[in-house]
Amino acid sequence: MQRTPEALGAELAALDAAGLRREVRIAPDTAIDFSSNDYLGLTKHPQLIDAVAAAARRYGAGSGAAHLVTGHGPEHAALEAELAAFVGRERALLFSTGYMANLGVVTSLVGRGDTLLADKLNHASLNDAALLSRADLRRYTHRDHQAVATLLGSVAARKDRAASAIVTDGVFSMDGDVAPLPELAASARTHRAWLVVDDAHGLGVLGATGRGACEQFGLGQNDVPALVGTLGKAFGSFGAFVAGERDLIDCLINKARTYIYTTALPQPVAAASRAALKLVDRESWRREKLMHNIALFRGACARERIPLVESSTPIQPVLLGSASRALAASEALLAHGFIVKAIRPPTVPQGSARLRVALSARHDAADIVKLVELLAEATQP
Ligand SMILES: *Cc1c(COP(=O)(O)O)cnc(C)c1O
Repeated sequence: MQRTPEALGAELAALDAAGLRREVRIAPDTAIDFSSNDYLGLTKHPQLIDAVAAAARRYGAGSGAAHLVTGHGPEHAALEAELAAFVGRERALLFSTGYMANLGVVTSLVGRGDTLLADKLNHASLNDAALLSRADLRRYTHRDHQAVATLLGSVAARKDRAASAIVTDGVFSMDGDVAPLPELAASARTHRAWLVVDDAHGLGVLGATGRGACEQFGLGQNDVPALVGTLGKAFGSFGAFVAGERDLIDCLINKARTYIYTTALPQPVAAASRAALKLVDRESWRREKLMHNIALFRGACARERIPLVESSTPIQPVLLGSASRALAASEALLAHGFIVKAIRPPTVPQGSARLRVALSARHDAADIVKLVELLAEATQP
């Protein structure tokens, strides 16, 4: 399509008519937020704020250059060591965002002639990473590990020297369900393929001590050799990392263009992540309260006959089907002071627009009870 100024206008009007136009809004700070990924309630924690202020005074607001130039500082180095220890990996490498971490790790591991197996409901950044890598992309049915085993078997039989990789979200960002990691790890091992797990929504939340989806399944570095984590969700800060063996990290330092050709994350941001890591580790009550809130929400929805999907994580989608229905329900909730964003195509497949409820340790029982009451009204067919 030729995008003349008139064509842009028509395209936007078409999005509007289909209930698919996106708009940026300032979130009202008096409303109760059930959409942010601040699962442990850390974004406004005084220890994070103090860490930012102290690091800014010491190191400045910006890092001034890429990590490989002069941008790498003591807060980055300390955070990388602490993250590696936290997830039980040899090393960890910081990236400025999860989006960039995914582009960096996938394009460093596979290229033209290689094969990439990706869950159909993976995060957009993993899909973009796949395209950028130029590997042969096979998207498999959501969570279908049997399909992965079959596909990997046939690829291995055809190409003996090409690399292959399985990439998956740990917790699916719009659905809240968890990838079948033990089965994927077994297939990867059998066929000597990489397994890349993006645990943006599991880290800090899942597992007995918040180490994420890998901990929930008892999987370590040998099972999941490339682990991606983000710091802007449960950690309440910003940034991301890849963790794995020393050689993997050295390879990323040398090959990952989204690591090499970009300004390092500011040190105050790394300092905030370090403060968050301590709280995630020490204050298990946050995770317990979050799990309690999830159970409370699901119980209340069952009583109100609000249909939910199988999810034991803070991400609890309420499927509504059409984009306009989801949008109307979201607006109705906002009018009562509750932020629950409508998630529409192309973020989710056609016909599966939804309200994505994200629970947090910040929420009180009363907030959740009231939300469910409003949801029951707003989602009536
Ligand atoms: C949020 C998210 C990302 C992107 O992380 P950012 O740090 O926000 O760029 C990547 N993967 C998944 C699964 C996510 O949910």
